[in-house]
Amino acid sequence: MATKKKQVARELLFGDLWEFDPAPETAPAGIADRYGLFIGGEFVAPKSKKWFDSISPRDEAKLSEIALAGQADVDAAYAAAAKAFPAWSKLPGAERGKYLYRLARLLQDRAREFAVAETLDGGKPIREARDFDVPMAAAHFFYHAGWADKLEYAAPGRDLRALGVVGQVIPWNFPLLMLAWKLAPALALGNTVVLKPAETTSITALKFAELIRDAGLPPGVVNIVTGAGETGAAVVRHKTAAKIAFTGSTSVGKWIQRELAGTGKRLTLELGGKGANIVFEDAAIDQAVEGIINGIFFNQGHVCCAGSRLLVQESIEAVVLRKLKLRMKSLRTGDPLDKNTDIGAINSKQQWERITELVDAGASEGAEIHQPACELPKKGFYFPPTLLSGVTQSHRVVKEEIFGPVLSILTFRTPDEAVEKANNTAYGLSAGVWTDKGSKYLAVASQLKAGVVWGNSFNKFDPTSPFGGFKESGFGREGGRQGLLEYGELV
Ligand code: NAP
Ligand code: MG
Repeated sequence: MATKKKQVARELLFGDLWEFDPAPETAPAGIADRYGLFIGGEFVAPKSKKWFDSISPRDEAKLSEIALAGQADVDAAYAAAAKAFPAWSKLPGAERGKYLYRLARLLQDRAREFAVAETLDGGKPIREARDFDVPMAAAHFFYHAGWADKLEYAAPGRDLRALGVVGQVIPWNFPLLMLAWKLAPALALGNTVVLKPAETTSITALKFAELIRDAGLPPGVVNIVTGAGETGAAVVRHKTAAKIAFTGSTSVGKWIQRELAGTGKRLTLELGGKGANIVFEDAAIDQAVEGIINGIFFNQGHVCCAGSRLLVQESIEAVVLRKLKLRMKSLRTGDPLDKNTDIGAINSKQQWERITELVDAGASEGAEIHQPACELPKKGFYFPPTLLSGVTQSHRVVKEEIFGPVLSILTFRTPDEAVEKANNTAYGLSAGVWTDKGSKYLAVASQLKAGVVWGNSFNKFDPTSPFGGFKESGFGREGGRQGLLEYGELV
């Protein structure tokens, strides 16, 4: 009886009692009605004469009209970047560093505005845009500003030279942060850039173009062309590009690799993932449960390195499952502009349909679906936090990247079995290991084929730490000295 009462009290505490009043963010997002292309240091109308709407997944409201760059526009962007390259690459590193510091500080000055714009355009909770995306983007510019005048230490005894014009294509899950990951190292080394943001999330890149203008960066050093896949393909194929840096899906990554074969262009690919989060019976279970929640529900699970496959030791499966379900009850799904929201809007209708299709496939293959009762907003794209149990390694939901707030649970008995199951995937981007034993962590981590392995934590990022994949998760690293070297030629 006493246990039952205790259980009810806990459920009340974590489930029902914690209801906050809405706390919507009110800072203005500063979004223009229309954005041209940013070429040669100014916003210009597209030669294609085409525009498209950018909507908010929060409520499907139109936010702005964005230029759709055609081939002639991409040509103009590359021409501007090529013209800017000689002077920019010859600038002393300390001078380039000053521009990067300026960009970082300008972003900090307008951090609130950028966070609101990111949340409106992409659907992520304002708490994450404000506390993670924007400060982390600024940190990448600060970090690489620091490298700009110390390049001789990045490659001691060698000369590290800029490659030329770099074409960069980024996805919609961390729009501003992916821009920072791409621009900062390229610029620090003296490259000039043509960047294409994702169609559904171009706004913060275009707002960043305002900062580039305000920072007085020489015209043409950074050019931003907006559009969908075809614009991306034109950026990738352009003969002026010395290197292509792509973050996105594995299927597009494979196409790019085929397209670039034999051209001599450098290539880095940051692609999909299906990260294993491994919990041993000796782990601190409550801490692990928080890590599992953060690992899969951060940014609605639109995270390439999400811990979407939970591997839990058989002896603790029941307790972990029970605690997870309880914790999921206290997650708030809804308006991303509300500071109390944990899970915001799914980035697009298309992505919502993909998540729904995969979860349905899981159900028809026999998975048990657990979703806490939650009221979702009527407009916009929302998906409740979802847990799938009773699945095996051959289920589609275990094999394929869902890129949504959906976690599959599998079990294992021994460390060897955990490693075998964790590596049983086409991807190799991230993994997590939860255990009380440092030696066990090291033994397991060293056998995992993943670019990042977190120990008793998950989804931790730092500009100094290289990030990237194995196998179908791509190749090349971003961040740290390793990421910097990807943008230079050693002579
Ligand atoms: P996506 O469809 O591959 O799109 C990525 C970018 O490529 C977008 O800007 C897209 O434009 C553009 N694009 C589409 N087709 C293209 C083509 N043929 N040539 C050149 N560019 C093209 O991927 P997504 O669905 O937006 O993003 C989710 C994927 O990114 C997931 O698989 C995720 O794991 C991966 N991701 C990986 C990392 C990492 O660091 N490893 C980080 C974040 C995301 P439009 O969107 O405008 O069509
Ligand atoms: Mg949008």
